[in-house]
Parts: sequence; structure tokens; C-alpha cells
Amino acid sequence: MSIESLARSEIRDLHVYETGAQASGAIRLHANESSWTWDGDADSLNRYPEPRPATLQTCLAERFGVAEENLLATRGSSEAIDLLIRSFCRAGEDNIVILPPTFVMYSVFAEIQGAEVISCPLLAENDFKIDINSLLNKVTANSKLIFLCSPNNPTGNVVSESDIVRLLEARKDQSIIVVDEAYVEFSDVDSAARLIDNYDNLVVLRTLSKALALAGARCGAVIGNPALIRMLNAVLAPYALATPVIDCVLRALSSDDATESKVRIEETMRERERLLEALAECECVQKLWPSQGNFLLVHFRDLESVQKRLETERILIRDIGGDFARITVGSADENNRLLAVLNE
Ligand code: PMP
Repeated sequence: MSIESLARSEIRDLHVYETGAQASGAIRLHANESSWTWDGDADSLNRYPEPRPATLQTCLAERFGVAEENLLATRGSSEAIDLLIRSFCRAGEDNIVILPPTFVMYSVFAEIQGAEVISCPLLAENDFKIDINSLLNKVTANSKLIFLCSPNNPTGNVVSESDIVRLLEARKDQSIIVVDEAYVEFSDVDSAARLIDNYDNLVVLRTLSKALALAGARCGAVIGNPALIRMLNAVLAPYALATPVIDCVLRALSSDDATESKVRIEETMRERERLLEALAECECVQKLWPSQGNFLLVHFRDLESVQKRLETERILIRDIGGDFARITVGSADENNRLLAVLNE
């Protein structure tokens, strides 16, 4: 059985929208574009971008260590989540499975699609460890997508490769296991993308928003088996990525000689460990957990009073309820300013 057969039948039968030809140097009277431009350059933003930017695809595939046929560039990994849910979940019939606390957009996109959300909570008293047995007990015949966030936002822990493989095998031909690796560069685990040729029900999400410091560009990628990628390609809007985005991402990635981002990532990881130690000493902190992301999950004694003090210094942290907050690892200076307020 092919994994695409789990998709909505309308999506399986979808044809890719045929965009106008892109032949360079041609007189373009076929795409209802304007012939004039704001900057005087004949072929500028008056022209549509490539429907699927080939050089960007090549560049992302290389960066994430997969073949091009395994990858589709998207507007951030958020769009990839939306594409997957729209493609696989029939409204009122299918569900997704999540392990909260986790990235909230999985359930938001599911709600928009009318898909049920089955939750299998990660417990603070169990250090947010994933329990595969209880997850498998909750999964139903209509569970199309199981979202594993690794490292998990906001708890910072990773899902082991053996747990991922266990799930892939247990749900073979039944569910897609989506491993969201938005923060994987900050962790000590390898990308699950290396398993992609062995499991057709594995999808990996990557983004340039975190370790590659391009959140404003809105660029990410969905990685999976070629048939599934072709299907998602038919769902993704033509010309999804804008010309300035393509240009800016290519410029950033080609200027990164693989040392710049590496150095910055290592810096963030060092700061994270320093912050972890310093926060553990703060009177206002009840508990905190080690993290493999660029953030820490902190349980404060009284978050409201902490927030009041932080507000006066215009420092923002993310309140996630129940006196828990997620704190992004900033620059050394930003982290010092945070610690100064918390130690007041
Ligand atoms: N996944 C996780 C776990 C995230 O935390 C985020 C953003 N906070 C995303 C995906 C979406 O990132 P983007 O759309 O910027 O790629």
C-alpha cells in the first residue's frame, strides 16, 4: 500500500496547476504581468517568481542532506503543517495526534480543517518524557498524522530515534509520523531525515527561522518520500515563495560558509547552559528543565509578579499558563539583563 492512499481522495486526484512558461529572454505576453517596473529593470518584481524555485530547492536539499525529490520548500514550516493537515485529514472524520505542551499551530491548523485533535500529554512530573505505549493506545484508525516535535517547543526535550522508529513501524500504512525539527540544530541528535528512504510514513519538517536566523523570510521545508512530496507540491499554491524571499535566502545560505551559522549556534548553546545554571539559582524559579532548543522552560513560583518586574524593563517572555514560561536564549547582553531583573 502506498502512503498517499491515506490522503483525502480529492487531493490524491489533484493535478498540478500549470503556470506560464518561464523561458528567459522571451517576450512575455502569456502571464498578464505588467511590462513596466518600479525600478527600471525589465525583469524585476513585475514578473512572477519561478513557481518552484529550483536553485533554492537544490540549496535546501543540500543543507538538509536529502535528495531534491525528497524536499519541498514552503513558507516556513508552518505552511508545511497546514499542507499536511489539509491533504490528509477529512473534516469531521480524521484526527491528528499531538503531545502537549507542544507547538500550538498543530491544533490550530487541525481546527481550521475540522479535524479532531487527540492529545497525549507529556507530564512535568515525568520530565515531559514521551510514553509511546500510551500514545499508541490513544491512536485511532483515523489518526492520519502524529506530530512529534523534537526538540519539543516548549519543553526542550528530544524524541529518541528508537522511539521514532518504534512509532513508524507500529503505524506503518496507517499514520504519517511528522517529526518537527524546527530546533534540531541546537540539539545533540541527528535529523530523522536520514530514515526517509526506509519509511514512507515519515515526514520531517525543517525551518530557516531559528538556527539560520531567517524568521522574517518565511522559508522552511517539508521532507518525505518522493510520491508524498509530489502530492504536497500539487496542494501548495503556485509561486508560493516571493522573489525577494528567494533572493534573500539564497544570499544568506551561500554567504554562510558553514562556519558562521555553526559558530552562532554554538554560542546560543553555550548561553543556554549558562542561563540554565543562573536561573536555577534564582529565588523566583521553582523548577526548570534542560533544553536542546534555543529556549528554556521555567516554572516560576509566581509568574505574574515576575512579569510585572520584566515589564518595567520591557523584557518579554512567553507565558504558557500555570506559572510556566518559555524563555528564548538571547544574546549574552540580553540574558544578563534578564538575570539582573530576576535577581532583583
Ligand atoms: N515548529 C515549531 C516547533 C515551532 O516552534 C515553530 C515556530 N515557533 C514552527 C514550527 C514554525 O516555524 P516557521 O513557520 O517560522 O518555520
